[in-house]
Amino acid sequence: MNVKHMQRFCYVILLAHFLNIGFSNPLPAEAGRLTAPVHYISMEFDLQSNSLTATSRIELPAGLNLHLSMSHLNVSRIIINGHPAEAGPGNDALDIPSSSSEQEIVLTYSKEIPPDSTTGNMISQAGITLIGNWYPVADQDMLFKLTAHIPIAFEAISEADEIIAFLINDKKQVTFRFPHPLFSINFIAGPYAVSQEHFGEEKILAAYFFPEDAELAAGYLAKAKQYLERYEEMLGPYPYNRFSIVENRLPTGFAMPTFTLLGQSVVRLPFIVDTSLGHEVLHSWFGNGVHMSPQEGNWVEGLTTYLADQTFAADAGRDTAYRKEQLVKYQSFVRPDMDLVLRHFSNVGHGDMKGQPTRAVGYNKSSMFFHMLRNKLGSDVFTASLQDFFKRSKFKTAGWSDLQTSFESVSGMDLESFFTQWLDRNDVPVLAVQQPEILNKDGYPVIHFNIVQHNDTPYMLEVPVVIKTAAEEIHKTLSVSEPLTPFEIPLASVPRTLVIDPDYDLMRQLAPSELPPTWSQFLGTANKVVVLPDEKYRALYKSLMDDLEESAIQVLLQNEVTDNDLAENSVLFLGTDGSLSRSLFAHPDHPEEGFTLDVRPNPLNPSQVAVLISAANTEQVEMAARKLRHYGKYSFLSFKNGRLQDKNIAETDSGLMIELLSLPSGIETSKSQTFDDIITRLLHYQVIYIGETHTNYEDHQLQLEIIRALYEDDSRLAIGMEMFTRPNQSVIDRYLSGELDEKSFLKESHYFKTWRFDYRLYRDIINFAKHNNLAIIALNLEKDIVNRVFKAGGPNSLDDEEASLLPADRKLDEPGYRQRIKTAFMMHAGQGQNGDFSGFLQAQALWDETMAETIVEYLETHPGERMVVIAGKGHVDRINAIPPRVARRLEVSQVVAINSIGSPSDSKTADFVFFSPPASLSAFPVLGVMLEDTENEEGVLVTALNPQGQAMEAGMREKDIILAIDDQPVNDVEDVKIEMLYKEKSASVMVRTRRRAFLFGDKELDIEVPLKSAEKTHNM
Ligand SMILES: [Zn+2]
Repeated sequence: MNVKHMQRFCYVILLAHFLNIGFSNPLPAEAGRLTAPVHYISMEFDLQSNSLTATSRIELPAGLNLHLSMSHLNVSRIIINGHPAEAGPGNDALDIPSSSSEQEIVLTYSKEIPPDSTTGNMISQAGITLIGNWYPVADQDMLFKLTAHIPIAFEAISEADEIIAFLINDKKQVTFRFPHPLFSINFIAGPYAVSQEHFGEEKILAAYFFPEDAELAAGYLAKAKQYLERYEEMLGPYPYNRFSIVENRLPTGFAMPTFTLLGQSVVRLPFIVDTSLGHEVLHSWFGNGVHMSPQEGNWVEGLTTYLADQTFAADAGRDTAYRKEQLVKYQSFVRPDMDLVLRHFSNVGHGDMKGQPTRAVGYNKSSMFFHMLRNKLGSDVFTASLQDFFKRSKFKTAGWSDLQTSFESVSGMDLESFFTQWLDRNDVPVLAVQQPEILNKDGYPVIHFNIVQHNDTPYMLEVPVVIKTAAEEIHKTLSVSEPLTPFEIPLASVPRTLVIDPDYDLMRQLAPSELPPTWSQFLGTANKVVVLPDEKYRALYKSLMDDLEESAIQVLLQNEVTDNDLAENSVLFLGTDGSLSRSLFAHPDHPEEGFTLDVRPNPLNPSQVAVLISAANTEQVEMAARKLRHYGKYSFLSFKNGRLQDKNIAETDSGLMIELLSLPSGIETSKSQTFDDIITRLLHYQVIYIGETHTNYEDHQLQLEIIRALYEDDSRLAIGMEMFTRPNQSVIDRYLSGELDEKSFLKESHYFKTWRFDYRLYRDIINFAKHNNLAIIALNLEKDIVNRVFKAGGPNSLDDEEASLLPADRKLDEPGYRQRIKTAFMMHAGQGQNGDFSGFLQAQALWDETMAETIVEYLETHPGERMVVIAGKGHVDRINAIPPRVARRLEVSQVVAINSIGSPSDSKTADFVFFSPPASLSAFPVLGVMLEDTENEEGVLVTALNPQGQAMEAGMREKDIILAIDDQPVNDVEDVKIEMLYKEKSASVMVRTRRRAFLFGDKELDIEVPLKSAEKTHNM
């Protein structure tokens, strides 16, 4: 049979009906008593009326029956064994029972092929293509003897080892001889320019190209010759006498015995000679030379893909990338619930979306199967096995079991379990590394780790592993067959990175770090929604929506989308100016013209993607939408007038990578600079971030010194502070102007409620600003709003007024942001609360975006001023925290400085690192009580006492209400903190408490409590 596929041909229309013909009779034994029926076809054409008339004469050997299907023909006469006969019911089939003697069936028929036929057939002045249902089709292989009468200007081709043409009157008669039975035959004719040469031993290599493409023939012949020679050397002699490359008016990419039929639009693509042509040539061995057995599944496409496409990629040094693309494609389209197993892959299926999962199994997983088999057996044994298989199966039907037989007999190995696990399972291995650890033994490092398989039943695998040290890469192949396999590998030097399967030698599931976000991933996922900013966009994106809605996709307006919808799905945003898209990706940098498709990981769920699509107008959408399905492997596509302008695949890890060791970084001391030198450098920038660990006094000392030094050089300076929220601005202003005293400032700004940290850490900075008339800008968003976004998993729960306080543009996918926030989340929340992470991420981004927005608002309204921004180290990260979010809003020079204390840093996250001398505050004075606000206005409730504490010793009790400290009334916990702030030097305080006495009513006591300092508790 013919092998038809469209692996490399994006433009091929697949003729599915042709592949669905049943195979019910066994192949006639070539050397047995029975020979195949012989089918003589003689035909003529009327190009004007797009029709053919023909006579079929079939010689049916004794003992064989025959079923002929002719529903597609106008049959005018049937003669069986010399007697006129009627065809079967409806005239569309003929059944001839077997007989003890040879029988003869003669049919005369005609067929018209309308010019607009979509069958792949055509009869016209431009050419003739007959590739399906153009003669009475039998249910078994036959020997064909075809004679055609064609216009003198035409050349014709069919399956043939020999072609004889001569002129009769004003017609050309062409006869085709082919000694091998075929299930079906094809016929092509047209005004071809034929060029031919020899290859191998007297074999003919020919090109049938239309005159307008004749100059392409030489290139095709030269490459085809290379392929023929390559595969003859690899597999054994080419099985026929001729090979022709035939150009077709219709868009096809088919491999027939003795020729390949390539559509004109395909032939003209420059890369076809380097890719698909070789694939088609190879089908002469596998697919045509050896037929696949339909009952046993299609091994042909996988083997051909591996030995052609994958091998050509290897020639170009990109076989690793090629295999990774295969795995990405598989993972994008094949889900376990589809229950697709390789052994059941039978035909090519549809070239459209619905066929993608099947194709990912039949081409990609199958090609990986042969790759793993070759790695297991070695190249020589692998090739020798294929030669053995080809020799045994030439001109016969063969299935997976025949392949297994050859591989086992040549290798001497039992491959049953290998074949079974890859052919009969619907899952693929899901590998992970657990507990990587480096220990030292006698001064040498030993790496320990477990390879874990997250599959119901473990696979038997040979897992390639690379261990990278500073000096070398150590390659190992580890056998894994259990759910968990521990390994221990002694090394000569310290390992930095462990990589599992770096060259993509295993069929396996890719980790999120390896999987680029692609258009295919969106198309393939089961969970997806499309989001429109409003109804207007439906018309703009109509042509794209029509395509998408074929797959019953959910389309929502942005105000209907819940936080959950975003966190659980792959989301396609049509238009990038909608508020929802802006709340996740701000304004993406898309070209204004044309059509842009931009796929990113969904920041709220890394196993899903988000797609941002923007377009100039409906025409641009229409022109690009038609092409999109050919570009599934890309992460970014930009079209203009339907022509591709830009494309890329997002970079991802190569292999499953585990970073083992982060050694400390350092700087050359000769490169270190004095404080004054650095200040001089900092003066070149308009925004200066000084990161802090909130509790490190050194960091705050450094902030003060930098502010002081900058101010001395240039007084146009403001201080932006993370510690205050925007509604506090007026309170801060009133304190700085002297209108409020410090206690009132702390009270009214609710410093101790919102920020909590020891005020003395910031006091000097704030007072420096006060004395020098520097503005302090409250940068942060109201804590209550952020908390609610965190708890609800997103901003859906906010009312309109609250939502209006949020910055509209928020970018959740700054590079590395998610990973950094995730680490922080795990530290704060522990392992158990993963579900809350998308809320946490949204909340964190709200902070950074709000602070960035506030900084920009200030700078825009105060031109010429410089701002020092004081915030936690995480917020000043140069790559993904506040600085890029400021840069997105305003072109401004920015610099990041941090102290070396506490956390590692590198040149990516900060520009300057200071080395501060150690410093600390005296400990905060405490009473040794736990406090709570009371329900009424007055006093603070003691909920517990430190048993070793001073308050306990002084006679305070649980449930006492503290009314005043040193005569200053206190009505909430904040008041106590504010009062205690001033007690650091006192030896003791007088605490007025009210105590409930059971019978005698409340009584008030004045208790003197000696003060003691506590390091880190927030107890009072
Ligand atoms: Zn193929």
